[in-house]
Amino acid sequence: MGEKTDGKVIFNGQDIHQLSKEDLRRLRPKMQIVFQDPFSSLNPRIKVGEAIGEALYDHGMKDRKKVKELVMETLEICGLSSYHYNRFPHEFSGGQRQRIGIARALIMQPDFIVADEPVSALDVSIQAQIINLLSDLQRDRDLTYLFISHDLSVVEHLCNRVGVMYLGSMVEMATSEELFRNPLHPYTKALMSAIPIPDPTLKRERIVLQGDIPSPANPPSGCKFHTRCPMASDICKQQTPEYRDMGNSHFVACHFA
Ligand code: SF4
Repeated sequence: MGEKTDGKVIFNGQDIHQLSKEDLRRLRPKMQIVFQDPFSSLNPRIKVGEAIGEALYDHGMKDRKKVKELVMETLEICGLSSYHYNRFPHEFSGGQRQRIGIARALIMQPDFIVADEPVSALDVSIQAQIINLLSDLQRDRDLTYLFISHDLSVVEHLCNRVGVMYLGSMVEMATSEELFRNPLHPYTKALMSAIPIPDPTLKRERIVLQGDIPSPANPPSGCKFHTRCPMASDICKQQTPEYRDMGNSHFVACHFA
């Protein structure tokens, strides 16, 4: 685990940076990650069955037969087959590789999965299959995801609660329903205006943001969004807006929201 720069990471009521190495090791299987690029997250020389079962050995399981059984079962759950066990990563398509990535996370019986842009490297025709798999697993296994994505249509489809980030700061957070019905932050409004509407007779006014995204290492003063915000005024350059509760579990950081 990398060093934190700020804040706390609370998991099941425990601040994970306060845990001993041993307690953290015991907790780790409960928190898994699915990476953006399924290919680079797999070792090309290791058969996928072994790659999926690896973490079980790391966490003390010794019964090889049992591990193999669990891997076979997890492959099936993720839409692959037992005959894929002895194949190498290069023998799989992008969508299948992402299924392997999901199987590797799932075999640890996690409660929580960080899914870091899990479909953005995939062909559009495959994306829906992986989203549906994630959605089914979420329901069947009562999983919690932290789903990181630039695709707001996917976010709306999959997420209960959405946090919008700009230059590393959370600028708005609400339930998915509330956020898509009533976006309050100018950045969120601009993002929403870019979502295509699947009806050619309907038009939405697109908010096009001007200027380049500043460097997160050297962000603008005051509100970090002021260099691109269509509503910015003097106070925005000087004062960082507070993160305010607007009611209905809807939080926003903007002086004028
Ligand atoms: S605080 Fe000012 S610059 Fe920041 S989002 Fe609100 S209006 Fe725009």
